[in-house]
Amino acid sequence: AAKSEGRACYRFYNETMNSKAVEQLKLEEELRHALKSDELELHYQPQVSKITGTAVGIEALVRWNHPRLGAVPPGDFIPLAERTGQIIELGEWVIKEVARHCKDWKTQGFDDFVVSVNISPVQFKQAQLAERIASIIKQTGLTPERLELELTESAIMTDAQTNITKLQQLKSIGLSLAVDDFGTGYSSLSYLKRFPIDTLKIDQSFVADLDSLDGAAIVDAILALSKSLKLKVIAEGIETEEQLSYLLHKQCDLLQGYYFSYPVRAEEVPDLLQQNYSQLLSSLSKR
Ligand code: C2E
Ligand code: MG
Ligand code: MG
Ligand code: MG
Repeated sequence: AAKSEGRACYRFYNETMNSKAVEQLKLEEELRHALKSDELELHYQPQVSKITGTAVGIEALVRWNHPRLGAVPPGDFIPLAERTGQIIELGEWVIKEVARHCKDWKTQGFDDFVVSVNISPVQFKQAQLAERIASIIKQTGLTPERLELELTESAIMTDAQTNITKLQQLKSIGLSLAVDDFGTGYSSLSYLKRFPIDTLKIDQSFVADLDSLDGAAIVDAILALSKSLKLKVIAEGIETEEQLSYLLHKQCDLLQGYYFSYPVRAEEVPDLLQQNYSQLLSSLSKR
């Protein structure tokens, strides 16, 4: 039992851990409630194309508006949901909510952009993942070509041989696939080539570290790798003009970060899609 409970076994020996465990149990109960009521909300952050200067994609990021605790960041409840298995329900809710928002945006005339959703490693491990997603797509009428899944490097590299089949199933539905937080895990380059993936997302820690030689070297290496494997590449976590300028000079295709926009509510997405950064991007590229 101690083994399967992982860290929680300390609760028998340590008072502090005890109250933490109680807090976790409470949060788990409340998350179950949140999934049924209206407490979860998706926010969206633009992914700007270097070529068009506009958002060609948006990433869905889940938020929990907790009645007692206020805004709980995903970093605080995704790991919990992964431990309890609630992440499966949460992950499916995200896709359904994206489908609902896409309908709204379409009636306003916006339907030529991709929406990325984050898939937890736990959800990715699910044997029926492709079937489940295909069924949600069918049920909601979402266009599969509009949906991109962000998978983590470690999730796809663990059991790589088995995952090739799974990734192919997801591709055959019509979805695009991105590798999130790229560079933080251990990629086998030979598998990376065999995986039917479309995009690498450079982890934001490397972008934050661009002013150091090491940080820049890693970003350069990922850009070169994606070019030679003919993958799209997106840098996330861009906060400053210096970072943006560096990435533009190095021909990074897609750009995401607070510099362009914080994640915003669905109602504000049409405004995001009408932003045009062409002039800014071309003036920075010339510098
Ligand atoms: P991620 O997928 O790598 O998402 C990027 C995170 O960086 C987001 O944090 C985003 O708000 C934040 N970010 C964006 N631009 C900047 C920037 O310029 N500077 C900095 N410092 N941060 C920036 P968020 O929304 O708190 O999400 C954290 C993580 O939680 C995500 O990392 C993702 O792994 C997970 N997550 C979020 N939504 C979902 C979801 O719907 N399902 C699953 N399974 N995981 C999710
Ligand atoms: Mg992501
Ligand atoms: Mg990331
Ligand atoms: Mg992350």
